[in-house]
Amino acid sequence: MNLSEKIKQGNRPFVIAGPCSAESEQQTVSVCQEIAKNNSAQMLRAGIWKPRTRPGCFEGVGEEGLAWIVNAGKLTNLPTTIEVAKKSHVELALKAGVSCLWIGARTTVNPFAVQEIADALKGVDIPVMIKNPMNPDLNLWLGAFERFEKVGVTDLTAIHRGFSVYNHRKYRNVPSWELPIALNEKRPETPIICDPSHITGNRELLFEVSQKAMDLNFDGLMIETHPDPDNAWSDAAQQITPTRLKEILEAIVLRSAIVSKDVATQIREIRDKVSDLDDRLFDLLSERMNFSEEVGQLKRENNITILQQEHWTKIINRRLNSSGEYQLTTVFVRQLMDAIHQESIRRQTAVMNPPKKEDDAS
Ligand code: PEP
Ligand code: MN
Repeated sequence: MNLSEKIKQGNRPFVIAGPCSAESEQQTVSVCQEIAKNNSAQMLRAGIWKPRTRPGCFEGVGEEGLAWIVNAGKLTNLPTTIEVAKKSHVELALKAGVSCLWIGARTTVNPFAVQEIADALKGVDIPVMIKNPMNPDLNLWLGAFERFEKVGVTDLTAIHRGFSVYNHRKYRNVPSWELPIALNEKRPETPIICDPSHITGNRELLFEVSQKAMDLNFDGLMIETHPDPDNAWSDAAQQITPTRLKEILEAIVLRSAIVSKDVATQIREIRDKVSDLDDRLFDLLSERMNFSEEVGQLKRENNITILQQEHWTKIINRRLNSSGEYQLTTVFVRQLMDAIHQESIRRQTAVMNPPKKEDDAS
């Protein structure tokens, strides 16, 4: 059975753990042995070549670290994985006997680099994991899978590590869960591993994001684990000790994606009620927008602007003030009212400035 089938068919979560970077043989082997002793992972990771955003940061120990992670794998009897970013990395990793390769987020964005790696793997039977690109571009992510498949590398797994945005308050890389969900829709057979370490950038949020990934039925987790996280040479704030990894994994509640007949019936009954209410909401919205058009007609006839700011401010404030009465959050009320207002403006604009009929060709 190949890796992606094993991940799909095995117990959730399939855990990949190990340091962000291999720093020394002792650090790599000791942390991997502790992870294995706790039975916390099914695969070991370590970064050997680190694609750093800015020069001057620790860029990985390079080739000499390959033997360390391979040795950790042998001592623990666990498969190993490292990041490769170019052809020479692939050749060295294959020679050293690494079990699986992963493509980093900074590489997935670059079709030339992905193609170079895929070409270097032509005819090689090795599993590859593909991290999402830095930016939320589903096609770029899908395209990387296709480049590998085209050269015959078909044992593929996805890693969701979040997307880069400027100065986000909570996350290092925003999860944008809709993207991995969309990938899953297009490639249901491809397992998805969540990497909460790079999403959060912060060990305090690791549990929350790991639990969410499990609740979305992801297949596994990749979690950076270090013997002394605070003094790690890279990504110190997000790494955790093997003991903490064990605690997080034990605390995760695994919910089943399979619904019993009885529960399914109960859910269906509630969904039917929800669906009836949605029908009524849409009828009401449609009626409401017809009134907007009537108002638009009067504004046109009397030559007054569509937007009457004072009136709108009054309306939105009234709704925001009464949000508690309806047990709705003010964020939701604001978004809903803005959406309604925008649609109303669109409808009134169409009444006020109807599209001109094409001039007769005569
Ligand atoms: C990593 O896994 O250490 C890494 C560099 O990840 P990413 O490609 O997600 O930034
Ligand atoms: Mn890292």
